[in-house]
Amino acid sequence: MNPTADPLQNLRSRRDVLVDIQVPLSDCGTFRLGGPAALLITCSTPDALAAVRAHAEALPAPLAFIGAGSNILFADAGWPGTLVRYTTDRFIPPRRLPDGGWQVDAAVQLDDLAAWACKTGLDGWEAFSGIPGTFGGAVVGNAGAWGVQMEHQLRQVLGWDAAGHPQSWSVEACGFSYRDSALKHDGSWVSEVILRGDTTPPDRLLAERARILTLRAEKHPDWRQTPCIGSFFKNIQPSSAAERRRAAGWFLDQIGAKQESEGGAAVYAKHANILIKASSDCTAADVLRLSQRLQKQVKDRFNLDLEREIQLLGF
Ligand SMILES: Cc1cc2nc3c(=O)[nH]c(=O)nc-3n(C[C@H](O)[C@H](O)[C@H](O)COP(=O)(O)OP(=O)(O)OC[C@H]3O[C@@H](n4cnc5c(N)ncnc54)[C@H](O)[C@@H]3O)c2cc1C
Repeated sequence: MNPTADPLQNLRSRRDVLVDIQVPLSDCGTFRLGGPAALLITCSTPDALAAVRAHAEALPAPLAFIGAGSNILFADAGWPGTLVRYTTDRFIPPRRLPDGGWQVDAAVQLDDLAAWACKTGLDGWEAFSGIPGTFGGAVVGNAGAWGVQMEHQLRQVLGWDAAGHPQSWSVEACGFSYRDSALKHDGSWVSEVILRGDTTPPDRLLAERARILTLRAEKHPDWRQTPCIGSFFKNIQPSSAAERRRAAGWFLDQIGAKQESEGGAAVYAKHANILIKASSDCTAADVLRLSQRLQKQVKDRFNLDLEREIQLLGF
């Protein structure tokens, strides 16, 4: 492929890259909200992503990168430039490396990976059972549940930095923090990830996965029926080693958030930190306004600043 030729023509000629124009962002995420993306490029393998990366600088600006859109509020106005989407519903089994590690495509769905890891006997992955979104999105967001954070499960992260140079980042180089990483903000693209290889008998992991899936079904909305993007705000970080992290949901409960709504957006009745699309006329602006009102109420009552865990795109 010649990267100096028309980039879109080059990409359109590949069978593993989909190029579409004027695609509703509501089709690109679990909140089912958002106006059109001027250009959407979808790929699902590291090879296809490499081809897109080779042309990235020549694609219509601005350029943004997403996985399954399960942690992003897309604006009603849409996205004026190129949106690159890296996700697949097909589970590509991880490759075993000679040193015992496992190499995984970042486009796979996190829950599929968790199911595979439990069967294979990789400890810790049961905690990610039932979390929507891609593995790549979970890595850069340092996704976590039940006391386990993604950074504990990894050995190496592969992709490109913002300048388009291929990179192999160590866990330290990813700059992980609570629900965050440096990679999430510096324009890096993650294509593959190497997992730690230590195994344990799978029975306990499979039982724990089943238990976690049941608990999630009780507490969290199923985004296919009740569109949402998971916890909206980060939990409150300890200010000293003696303190514990405090759930944002607890503070939101105290201000009566579960009764709050704005236009077609509402707070989920069983979880005060999850905002939902409660009716078909809900807009992204409704969600943003509701979230800002909740932030203000928590600030007024507790003098605490709730920080968004979710990303905004197009605002
Ligand atoms: C019902 C529900 C429950 C949830 N529960 C949890 C939970 O328990 N714990 C938790 O941590 N999260 C939870 N989430 C949030 C979400 O599922 C995770 O954050 C998920 O890992 C995001 O993956 P994604 O592919 O959808 O990322 P997206 O939403 O598409 O993107 C999120 C961010 O990651 C970046 N990104 C995505 N893929 C890549 C990549 N390959 N390379 C570089 N950057 C990338 C994007 O640019 C964006 O900044 C939940 C969401 C829902 C809807």
